[in-house]
Order: sequence, then C-alpha cells, then structure tokens
Amino acid sequence: MLDFTKCSVEQLMEEKQLLEKKYADYVGQKLKLDMSRGKPASTQLDLNNDILSTLETYITEDGTDARNYGVLDGLSEAKKLFSELLNIAPANMIIGGNSSLNLMYDAMTRLFLFGTEGERPWCQLDQVKFLCPSPGYDRHFAICEDLGIEMITVPMHEDGPDMDYIESLVKEDASIKGIWCVPLYSNPQGICYSDEVVERLASMKTAAKDFRIFWDNAYGVHHIYDEVKLKDIFEAARAAGNENRVYYFFSTSKITFPGAGVALIASSLSNIAEIKKHMSIQTIGHDKLNQLRTVNYFKNAEGIRTHMKKLGNELRPKFEIVLNTLEKELAGTGLLSWTKPQGGYFVAVDTLPGCAKETVRLAKEAGVVLTGAGATFPYQNDPQDRNIRIAPTYPTVEELQKAMELFCVCVKLAGVNRLLI
Ligand code: PLP
Repeated sequence: MLDFTKCSVEQLMEEKQLLEKKYADYVGQKLKLDMSRGKPASTQLDLNNDILSTLETYITEDGTDARNYGVLDGLSEAKKLFSELLNIAPANMIIGGNSSLNLMYDAMTRLFLFGTEGERPWCQLDQVKFLCPSPGYDRHFAICEDLGIEMITVPMHEDGPDMDYIESLVKEDASIKGIWCVPLYSNPQGICYSDEVVERLASMKTAAKDFRIFWDNAYGVHHIYDEVKLKDIFEAARAAGNENRVYYFFSTSKITFPGAGVALIASSLSNIAEIKKHMSIQTIGHDKLNQLRTVNYFKNAEGIRTHMKKLGNELRPKFEIVLNTLEKELAGTGLLSWTKPQGGYFVAVDTLPGCAKETVRLAKEAGVVLTGAGATFPYQNDPQDRNIRIAPTYPTVEELQKAMELFCVCVKLAGVNRLLI
C-alpha cells in the first residue's frame, strides 16, 4: 500500500486527481445514508418484537398491580434480573424509567441543587470541574456544558483513561468533582478499562470529599467478539473505603428498544437512600409494566446473555465491513489509524491532524452523514481535529459497505490535500 506521507508532491498530485474522480463518481450516485448516531437497524429491533406481546399478567410476584401508581425504586423481579446480570445487590439499585442518560442528568442536577453527604451543593461553588476522558460520549459532555461545569479533557489509552494525569489532578484540586466513564467498549473507541484502571479510580485520593464517578456501563453486555471482563468497581471502591464514590448506570436501550427500555442507577446504600428521598418528590414511580415486560421476556440473566449473542451475530458482519474496508483501503497509507473493538456500538478513527472536519464534510456532501467531527470531545473541540466516530449499526450491510468505501475516499482526499499544503 502506498504510504502517502512519504510521497513526492508529484505523486500526491497524481493521487489527488484519481481521488477527485472517484469522489465525483460517488457524488453522482446521490447516496443518502446516516451513520451519525448509534441507533439500531430495524432488523436488529425486529429481534425483540416478542417483548411487545409478552405481558401475561400485570400482577407482580408480590401481588402488586403493576398498572397502578407506586413502587418508586422498581419491581423486585426487575431488580433480581439486573442483580443477577450485573452482580449488584437489589438493595443497591433503583430501577428508573426508559433512559439511563436521564438518570445521569438527574444525578448531576441533584448534586448541583442539594449536594451530597452534607457537602455544599455544587451550584453554590465558584467553580465545578469534571474529568472527561476523550474521545468520549458527546451527551455526557453536553450535560456538563448545560450546567456550566468546566470540562477537563483526559487522554485515553488502550486500557482506559490516563490514570497518572487523573491522580495528579484530583489530589490537588477540590473543585474537580467527578469523572465520566464508559468502562466497557467505550463510546466511541470500544476501549475496556483494565483492572488496574478500575482499581486506581476506586482508590485514588481526591481533594473533593464528594468526588463522584459516573460509571456508565451502557455497553456492559455488548460483546461482539471475545467477552471482556470488567473488574467490579463497587468491590474495589468498598475495599478502598470509598463506596459512596460510584454512581453506576445501565439500561436495556441497546438490548431491546432505545427509548423504550428500562434503566437503572446503582450505588452505595446511603447514596441510594439520598437519591430516593429526592426521587420520591420527583415521581410516584416509573413504568412498571415495561419492567414486567422486560422480566417476562428475558426470564433471567441467562436470557439476556443468550439474546446478546444473537445481537452480536447481527452486529459482527457490520463491524467486519468497517474493519475490513479500513484495512483494505487505508492500512499502511499513513492517513488513518483506528481501534478494533471487541464489542459495543462504535469504531473510532484518527485521521492526520487537521483532517477530521474536512473528511466529515466531504462525506456529507456525497450523501453520507457521520457524527460531527469534534463531537467526541468537550466543547466539540478536538484539539487536533483528528477523531471521527463511525456508527455502523443503522445502515444495512449493503449501504454500510458503500458508505465505508466512500468514507475511505474522503479520508484519502482530505489527507492528500493536507499533505499538499
Ligand atoms: N451512555 C452511552 C455511553 C451511550 O452510548 C448511550 C447511547 O448511545 C447512552 C448512554 C444512552 O442511554 P439511554 O438510552 O439509556 O439513555
């Protein structure tokens, strides 16, 4: 494969002409494809259709009528299901509504309005900062931006965020109040946190007494290739005497139906009591019929694991298209590097510095919408303009193949143009 970074200007000019021709061909095809968000395809959603007709009874195992108000923290059968799946005691969790992001936003606003453990509410402080391992999930960063929390970009390594950097910051600065973590198959790089990273996050010394880890395990059961095991953050935090440090989030959005799944928050007993106190003012209870449907459909944790294998079979060909096309078109060109996730929903790529926005623009003008360049960083500002998130789940395999071929042409064209500057 031609290494573009070692080419002469003449060679680059020649390649540019060929690429422009290829690109014009794609523009002529008038493609209309959306790879901007991590949404499941309808074929993937079809795998779950039986959940819609699974409600055999609305009376729960303790005799509660699930059609009526009540049971703030969720049905015991739903807690049992997730307890078995995630190895978290039922007493340590609250089953929420249809969205874990909603639970995260609420957790953050509670800290802002009321504080925790008798510490001052964050809204009364001059400055509140949050650590944002990046590239990361744009909606996490949007919550910070919405509340005026200053975001600190933390580099990601192959085994999770840069722990030396994090430890050096949090031990000195009491205005750093927490960190966002997607510990398994992270969005967007598919990185899995090593045991050491989990251990260090749970045990590190923080100047802020009310430092909180927002542990968003959105892809905790989304294995596509080999299953990666994640160290138990609660066990590590308890062992270090920091059991109030962790808020754990999970949902079935990417297991059954996004926007119509079941979400949960888990934490220490005292944090759960604190959350329930405020939540009882906010709502009389969440959707118990959906909890019941979910339990009836899956029966137990093994039911979810079996379902996730089917989902992995559905997603694997799509990940294969992305990875094989990148390998075929760009390996050795010096223009792109990428991650090879074992699970999750995304593949992240890094272009030459200064080429991500241009690549996304070229793809858009040829009819393929990607996640906006920069979206994976705080303030939508990728300092090197390199990172692009590829979300392969929504298009069909045929559409995805075409979109990836076009994407590679865009990467090369943007790269060659950059090298010619
Ligand atoms: N967390 C992460 C890391 C995600 O990627 C997503 C969706 O893409 C969510 C949370 C949203 O979850 P929910 O649908 O439960 O609000």
